Amino acid sequence: MSEGLTYIAYIFSALLFILALAGLSKQETAKLGCYSGVAGMAIALLATFTKADGAGAVCIIIVAMLIGAVVGLFAARKVQMTQMPELIACLHSFVGLCAVLVGFNTFLELDGVFDVAAGITNAVHMEETGELGIHLGEIFIGVFIGAVTFTGSIIAYGKLNGTYKLRIFKSAPLVLPANHWINLGAIIVCFLLMIWFLNGGVEASAAPLFIMTVIALAFGVNLVVAIGGADMPVVISMLNSYSGWAAAASGFMLDNDLLIVTGALVGSSGAILSYIMCKAMNRSFISVIAGGFGNAPAAKEDKDYGEYHEMKVADVAELLKNSSSVIIAPGYGMAVAQAQNAVATLVERLQARGIEVRFAIHPVAGRLPGHMNVLLAEAKVPYDIVLEMDEINDDFENTDTVLVIGANDTVNPAAAEDPSSPIAGMPVLTVWKAHNVVVFKRSMNPGYAGVQNPLFFKDNTSMCFGDAKKTVEEIDALL
Ligand code: NDP
Repeated sequence: MSEGLTYIAYIFSALLFILALAGLSKQETAKLGCYSGVAGMAIALLATFTKADGAGAVCIIIVAMLIGAVVGLFAARKVQMTQMPELIACLHSFVGLCAVLVGFNTFLELDGVFDVAAGITNAVHMEETGELGIHLGEIFIGVFIGAVTFTGSIIAYGKLNGTYKLRIFKSAPLVLPANHWINLGAIIVCFLLMIWFLNGGVEASAAPLFIMTVIALAFGVNLVVAIGGADMPVVISMLNSYSGWAAAASGFMLDNDLLIVTGALVGSSGAILSYIMCKAMNRSFISVIAGGFGNAPAAKEDKDYGEYHEMKVADVAELLKNSSSVIIAPGYGMAVAQAQNAVATLVERLQARGIEVRFAIHPVAGRLPGHMNVLLAEAKVPYDIVLEMDEINDDFENTDTVLVIGANDTVNPAAAEDPSSPIAGMPVLTVWKAHNVVVFKRSMNPGYAGVQNPLFFKDNTSMCFGDAKKTVEEIDALL
């Protein structure tokens, strides 16, 4: 394929990626968005293929694609819906590692021969054309972003993995003494190393690049371990953004315009998502990424919350029969129990009895932005009864019954009522204002943030213990 045709293919791919992002921003057009993304990627791959230099390069690409396809297919078939957040963190770490490797490879290629007869290396040629400084800067920044993304994503993987008791890393923040000074010191040292690296010119030494990589790897770990459980949604979107910038940096190093455009699209959409997540949680972006800023001291867990009331499924069914309005607040537990289809069936049955049923979706419910919306869409719940927190929060006081299905932190009144709570200030679904609240969960264990939930002890609240799917199916059968 000629250079011109490759460019046209890249422009088409870039347009399809933009259409994909636009499509994915609404449930109704999400499928179309996915198809646009797949088409864009297919064109990009084909165009890249035709750029390969010789049969050897084609073979390497084919082998790499086959390995990638096998791993991708295996992961797609094996990974449970509840493991998606970990998978995404894992994929972000690959992008980071890739940027580091591309950076080191680009650096090593500087010693390659540009003109054998004249004895000119790539570095000398770039020095003559005035590109060397920029190229070294691209390498240094690309490796830095890649290394931070790599280790940050691995820690995020550990924090998202498993349940409350089995999680690899606890969700609570681990803040070193003088943490902010350590982070600031790391950034200043990396900046000085960059000056050393750039000043090397054609003789640029690998030492500053190597030392910076080690510091950036540690920086990535420290940045994410210091972030508390309830702030993790911002970390996910932030690492998403970093992975985009790491890809864009790789694009600069490899001189690939499409990679630059795609990386910038991912980087900026991740940054916008981080902003939306911060707004949803009433946190400032700086305070979250600086890690540990504004982390309130953990609430004392020996506090006496009083007695909780238990309700059996038969009583829940009776309560629902006597209700004229019901709101369902789903959370991560609904995803774990894979209860979405059972919940959709229950909703249809209640609606058939003339009961008004709506869903209240908290922006950080589950473990991924939009997690609950995806599950409900999969169960074919009509979009018009699925309302965002801001749209429905005022309606709880006029509602007969709220069913909290596997949600915990997102319905925790401590966020609104207890300034010493680690989740203080985070807007939550004010389910406790309804006449009756029933919580479906398996035990009295806390939610992701590890904070006890005073909702469970309120007079108008009852606990219905058990796996959410089983509980919902039993209630449905009784109705
Ligand atoms: P939580 O994670 O706070 O709580 C989920 C609850 O579900 C648990 O208390 C658990 O209790 C219950 N549960 C688990 N399995 C089952 C089951 N099979 N049947 C019934 N119940 C079950 O959920 P929320 O959605 O309310 O809150 C999300 C949390 O995750 C927030 O803290 C948020 O900040 C964080 N987060 C969100 C991300 C996002 O992008 N949305 C990303 C990263 C973190 P039990 O074990 O007793 O059953």
